[in-house]
Amino acid sequence: MRIDVVTIFPEYLAPLRAALLGRAIERGLIQVDVHDLRDWTHDVHRAVDDAPYGGGPGMVMKPQVWGDALDAVCDEGTRLIVPTPAGRPFTQAMARAYAAEEHLVFACGRYEGIDQRVIEDAARRMPVDEVSIGDYVLVGGEAAVLVIVEATVRLLPGVLGNPVSAEQDSFSDGLLEGPSYTRPEVWRDLAVPEVLRSGNHALIDRWRRDQALERTLRRRPDLLERLPEDSLDSRDRAV
Ligand code: SAM
Repeated sequence: MRIDVVTIFPEYLAPLRAALLGRAIERGLIQVDVHDLRDWTHDVHRAVDDAPYGGGPGMVMKPQVWGDALDAVCDEGTRLIVPTPAGRPFTQAMARAYAAEEHLVFACGRYEGIDQRVIEDAARRMPVDEVSIGDYVLVGGEAAVLVIVEATVRLLPGVLGNPVSAEQDSFSDGLLEGPSYTRPEVWRDLAVPEVLRSGNHALIDRWRRDQALERTLRRRPDLLERLPEDSLDSRDRAV
């Protein structure tokens, strides 16, 4: 997979080359390029923003500079992702869909955002998603790109040491994952639940499923409401 990020703060994207993502680059599983939007400016001040039509506070990112940048970076197989608090909420299902793409381009907004015609124009040539990482407002799109790329790349074949861990993570079966424990058996008077030390795998699976259901019911009842009817068996319903 190829990933291109266009931003006015290329240094902000340094974590894309760290830890798990860095190893995925080294192993040739992904190619990451970060571009400075100001490379596509034509004036001495290298300006990327201008006052908003209709008045109001803040500045809006200029269409010409974004248009030239995206013309240079996008190609036939590109999906363009534009982080914005006004976008569709990012989910694990979207991360899974993005992991199947061959080329993702991210356009990082700043100030009041990017002139809307940039998105309209790009959508004439390629799929474009305006995506939000949550109901709050960040200063720029860079932190959102780090979130979306990390959630996506960990799902690529070969990136995680043990691919089963992604299959069992929260949201894979529509539920939150239950609690996890490691040694020692007792720590500060707190014991690991006995069932996990029983060696009875059927019992352990049932316990984990119950924990996931209870936790989801308590913390995210909205997820339970969205579960397909047939994904709960009679023992699930008892929880
Ligand atoms: N005026 C915009 C609004 O109210 O919808 C907010 C602009 S915000 C200050 C600047 C940039 O930060 C946005 O263009 C976007 O790239 C990014 N951003 C802020 N919050 C975000 C969120 N929740 N999800 C994704 N991107 C976000």
